[in-house]
Amino acid sequence: MKYLAVAALFAAAAVPAFAADGEIDNVKCSMCDGWNKPQKPFRIFGNAWYVGTTELSAVLLTGPKGHILLDGALPQSAPLIAASIKEAGYDIEDVKLIVNSHPHYDHAGGIPALQRMSGARVAASPASAKVLRDGEVGPDDPQFDPKGNTRIDPLKKVAIVRDRETLYIGPISVTAHMTPGHTPGSTTWSFRACEADGHCKTIVYADSLNPVSTNGFHYTGDRNRPDISTSFRDSIRKVASLKCDIVISVHPGFTDTMGKLASRTDAENTFVDVEGCRDYAADARKRLEKRIATELAEKGK
Ligand SMILES: [Zn+2]
Repeated sequence: MKYLAVAALFAAAAVPAFAADGEIDNVKCSMCDGWNKPQKPFRIFGNAWYVGTTELSAVLLTGPKGHILLDGALPQSAPLIAASIKEAGYDIEDVKLIVNSHPHYDHAGGIPALQRMSGARVAASPASAKVLRDGEVGPDDPQFDPKGNTRIDPLKKVAIVRDRETLYIGPISVTAHMTPGHTPGSTTWSFRACEADGHCKTIVYADSLNPVSTNGFHYTGDRNRPDISTSFRDSIRKVASLKCDIVISVHPGFTDTMGKLASRTDAENTFVDVEGCRDYAADARKRLEKRIATELAEKGK
């Protein structure tokens, strides 16, 4: 495994140079190096592949008329994702559509470079599309930092996707489910992945439902911002109610992606778990309720 991970790293160097002057091909953060360790690509089920890094998910749904890529991780993840697509046996130039969970630098930072390599169309929710075009989050984002946000390369063109809209590339498709809370434009995606024998499963690519913010942000609202705790709760409920045979969260650790991979056998695909989305949502609900209780206690002082 270790050798293959190193091989993937070298394969990345063979990808044509994509970072022209002024383009953001690397961001620094305390967690970034740990998140960005190479991961050998693996089939999740049927035509769905995990092509992300060890701690940042990216999923490739392959099809005869072109492929769909969900997320691009960090800017510095882009060559690793391109190498993983190649190692899985596919061509980055056949990626026709890239969609995003939420536009923070650790999930969208690699999208501009992957878009340049593939020529793919990029689609996102209205709020996320604005961030992707601006290259940074706005003050409505819980992690907005008035002293300076972590910027990503701005994208010139981002198509808008609406709640429950399905985007097709030939016979394959992904459906958007707006799940605001972690960011205003947060989007959970669902799609059917199928084996060659026609056996299919519904995979949910679940956006973060984690109430993480910069200091001073209140999900319960304040003088400057509306209460978003209700819509956040609704998002969690929505994820719990989705048809869901397999859940993959944007941070693989939240749904134990690597643990499921390690325990998978020929007899049992441990990714298949019809309770996966409900379990993921139940964990998120606990974190959100704890956060809301803290905020209300502070306000009561
Ligand atoms: Zn985030």
